[in-house]
Amino acid sequence: MPERLQAIRGMHDVLPEQAPIWQHLEDHARAVVEGYGYREMRTPLLEPVELFKRSIGEVTDIVEKEMYAFEDRGGDRLALRPEGTASCVRAALEHGLLEQPQRIWYRGPMFRRERPQRGRYRQFHQIGVEAFGLAGPDIDLEIIVMTRRLWQALGLTDLRLELNSLGDAGERARYRADLVNHLRAHETALDDDSRRRLETNPLRVLDSKNPDLAAVIAAAPSLLDYLGEASRTHFDALCAGLDDIGIGYRINPRLVRGLDYYNRTVFEWITDALGAQGTVCAGGRYDGLVAQLGGRETPAVGFALGTERLLDLIDTSAITTGPDAYLVALGERAAAAAPGLAERLRDAVPGLRLLTHCGGGSFKRQFKKADKSGARLALILGDDEAAAGTVSCKPLRGGGGEQRTLSFDAAVAVLRETCNAR
Ligand code: ATP
Ligand code: MG
Repeated sequence: MPERLQAIRGMHDVLPEQAPIWQHLEDHARAVVEGYGYREMRTPLLEPVELFKRSIGEVTDIVEKEMYAFEDRGGDRLALRPEGTASCVRAALEHGLLEQPQRIWYRGPMFRRERPQRGRYRQFHQIGVEAFGLAGPDIDLEIIVMTRRLWQALGLTDLRLELNSLGDAGERARYRADLVNHLRAHETALDDDSRRRLETNPLRVLDSKNPDLAAVIAAAPSLLDYLGEASRTHFDALCAGLDDIGIGYRINPRLVRGLDYYNRTVFEWITDALGAQGTVCAGGRYDGLVAQLGGRETPAVGFALGTERLLDLIDTSAITTGPDAYLVALGERAAAAAPGLAERLRDAVPGLRLLTHCGGGSFKRQFKKADKSGARLALILGDDEAAAGTVSCKPLRGGGGEQRTLSFDAAVAVLRETCNAR
């Protein structure tokens, strides 16, 4: 027997019984973001590796250690996208979309070669939004409010919002100098990564997941003390907007993001239910990125949420997965009539999930299949029913019930009701 192959470590199949939960999340996410006027964009999974180096930053976990980068047969340096923002900016520039403000959303798989564990995979999925061409705190507020609406739609109540401002480049430079002094003073307490970052990208030390560094990081100067007038006003206006709408938040002056391109507003939605993988959604402003990738100065703000981490939090018990009805056919005449009946039912009840039995067999066998399918109703078509233009209907769930013979119109009414109750 040939050896069976398996999926790559950290990359997972979504099986048919799990797919409805993904669809549930994706449907809600789409409805929410489209409700704010965001339009979907789909970009390739492969991009030039240079795109991520120039946007995410050379001295980041993603680019240094996590990217799936390779040379293709033509010698081009490619990478599987580790995130969506760089691709969005690349595509928006390439197609001239940034002449006016744009609200864009995307979803799909991302790839990072991390150590797989709960909430951390090598192929994972994000849903993200990017708003281009809008500089004010109003749009920052909009995308945060939008995420809160999604949590409400999904029934998630225990997510908390953390907020910070990274200021502008000048403010960050002044902060950076003081931070470096602080970290230098505690250099022996740093790990190798942080010692290296001290030279190249000291703010990233604040983002370290090493618990041994927690004390040094907690004692570091606060970015918020370095904000100038404009950054401060922007941040205060965002906070006031959140207060006004009634969204609670905690200002965390040590919150930076794992990617280099952020400025001013940064935020995370965090849960305590997933341990170290507690950030389910992260975002912020990145006013410099478009120019950094060759476009005109264009303010931008966005977020990405981790689909798997959110799925882990959703109560799946209320998500119905089975078909509405399963049609069994008994006898030659009935078997011949069944496909036509099924089509007329599908025409009459939009959205109906109707499984038709294939492969014949005894009543008992067909009925067993109907039950196993998870269908709410069994529709039974015998030769007599086929001749009379009727169909029998038996509830399979919720305590069952009597089998009844129904006219076509009555069957349509019952199926409509079942469909709507889903
Ligand atoms: P973390 O700090 O957990 O490594 P990150 O800062 O690298 O996250 P981002 O690049 O901001 O994450 O991505 C946004 C969101 O995507 C994260 O908040 C998380 O929910 C999700 N995410 C990131 N990496 C992974 C992964 N390897 N597996 C599953 N989800 C992920
Ligand atoms: Mg990471």
